[in-house]
Amino acid sequence: MLAGEEKDTAMKTIMQYRFLNGLITPSSGSSLLILLLIFLITLSAPYAEAFQAKVLPSNIHTGDAFMLRVTGLDAAEPSAIFEKKALHFSKYGKGCFVAIGAVDIKSRPGVYLISLKTGQQKTKLQLRVLKGSFKTIHLTLPEEKVTFSPEDLVRIDREDEMMGSIWQIESERLWDGSFILPLPNPFSTPFGTKRIINKKTVSLHRGLDMQGKAGEAIQASNRGRVVLTEELFFGGNTLILDHGQGIFTVYMHMSGFNVKPGDIVSKSDVIGFVGSSGRSSGPHLHFGVKVMRVNANPVSITGLKL
Ligand SMILES: [Zn+2]
Repeated sequence: MLAGEEKDTAMKTIMQYRFLNGLITPSSGSSLLILLLIFLITLSAPYAEAFQAKVLPSNIHTGDAFMLRVTGLDAAEPSAIFEKKALHFSKYGKGCFVAIGAVDIKSRPGVYLISLKTGQQKTKLQLRVLKGSFKTIHLTLPEEKVTFSPEDLVRIDREDEMMGSIWQIESERLWDGSFILPLPNPFSTPFGTKRIINKKTVSLHRGLDMQGKAGEAIQASNRGRVVLTEELFFGGNTLILDHGQGIFTVYMHMSGFNVKPGDIVSKSDVIGFVGSSGRSSGPHLHFGVKVMRVNANPVSITGLKL
């Protein structure tokens, strides 16, 4: 004879065994309910994953970089599409992934959607973009500084094409933690400044000019690979770092380079020196940032806590 408790345990074991082998029959209302519950739990399991997705900072302006952080994720790497481009995620500890994007300065302010896919789940996230406030300045320059010879135009075109092909590269991530400003100095011309030269030529400043003394050391904004050290028509001695995942930093008007193409540099390594080469009116550094072929405000990317 089995004691009451032992009998119960034995019955449960038999029930489990039968259930596992598909032998149980829904002979009563309660077992039908149990089966239904098990079915519902199984069905909803992939959707019950508790993850959080956040766009940071919550308010961005036209021309800004932003980050998308997904936490509490058990599934494999998420994927996201923003403005028809796939964002690149990096693993940031257990269940956490981070991707960097940017909104073009000429984009219309408003609410943009980011399509996020995690495992079986698809979500749309909102990205609120406010109108950036940019200055307009008027400059008067000698005509020979704003008119170009046919040879100059050929060179300008060739250099544009060469730079354009660099921005297409989307290599493995090399960046590591937050981006830094390459000099500890004040800014002279902010990103987005509209310059009207001799009342006709309009040029949009798609980088940040920083004050600097000739020969002052310029630091790498983040870890990356040197992909260009060349003297260009506009930029003078120009250096480009590829940080991976379609993110580049650009340094112009340098007096000289401290690294060569192919070198991997660490964040804050001295890559070159402040100068006034190319079309420049005095020693300063033009610092530019590209995120997936978009010129991003350098101040916005250095503000991301990566
Ligand atoms: Zn500049």
